[in-house]
Amino acid sequence: MGADLAEKLPDLGQRDDTVTLFCGPCSVESFEQFDEVAACLKNLELTWIRGGAYKPRTNPYSFQGLGEEGLRIMRDSAHAHGLKALTEVMDTELVDLVDSHVDGIQIGARNFQNFSLLRKVGKATAASQKMVLFKRGFAGTIEEWLAASDYLAMEGNRNIVLCERGLRTFETATRFTLDISAVPVIHKLSTMPVCVDVSHAAGQRDLVPALAKAAIAAGADSIMIEVHPNPRAAKSDSAQQLSLPQFESLVNDLRAIAAALGKTIV
Ligand code: PEP
Ligand code: MN
Repeated sequence: MGADLAEKLPDLGQRDDTVTLFCGPCSVESFEQFDEVAACLKNLELTWIRGGAYKPRTNPYSFQGLGEEGLRIMRDSAHAHGLKALTEVMDTELVDLVDSHVDGIQIGARNFQNFSLLRKVGKATAASQKMVLFKRGFAGTIEEWLAASDYLAMEGNRNIVLCERGLRTFETATRFTLDISAVPVIHKLSTMPVCVDVSHAAGQRDLVPALAKAAIAAGADSIMIEVHPNPRAAKSDSAQQLSLPQFESLVNDLRAIAAALGKTIV
């Protein structure tokens, strides 16, 4: 036993004993749609809700988000339920507006090396130390990702969560190839917590539970999952969002895995 313990590798996954869920719809579509998800998350005793007000859509004719109205919906609904709100900012000109409405700011995969945006967000949040969830670009190495995170940190923000969301590879069976290795690698190279966005990696809702379970088992500090009251009618990412009952059932399974690791889901 003593020898086994001495040889045991350090558990690099133990940042603290919580796993934070950043869940919510891909896009904020209406107050009713967002509020229904918020009520569900609150009922499950979770702390955060995500949603997109400004959407980085591949096609300019696709739904672009509700913009400032979406920010107001997020703030009003999240705060009425006692939840914190997380949303993406895509544009340097919108950083102050987004910052004034939400509790956490997301930088999306497509902006992972937009250094002026990173600097601006780092500066805007230096005093507040508001959480910045920084996604990995889908063709970015871990070294590039860590280097880019310094643009946020050097402007003063130390509250950075790195979010793996899948890579572009030769594989087309999933939307992106989820790099689970990023979790222990980041834990080895940095003190920042790691989030795994399983929904954008999977691209299909039936794959989401297995990836979420794998991410928690690998030691992820947080998980992002898209959930919608009526996924088939969603204005973006319809194929990958979970329904509310599917989400509730998955959270129950994730709690059991977290418990086995001595962690709680918040
Ligand atoms: C999102 O989380 O809404 C999103 C667009 O993700 P990504 O930047 O990873 O594509
Ligand atoms: Mn989405």
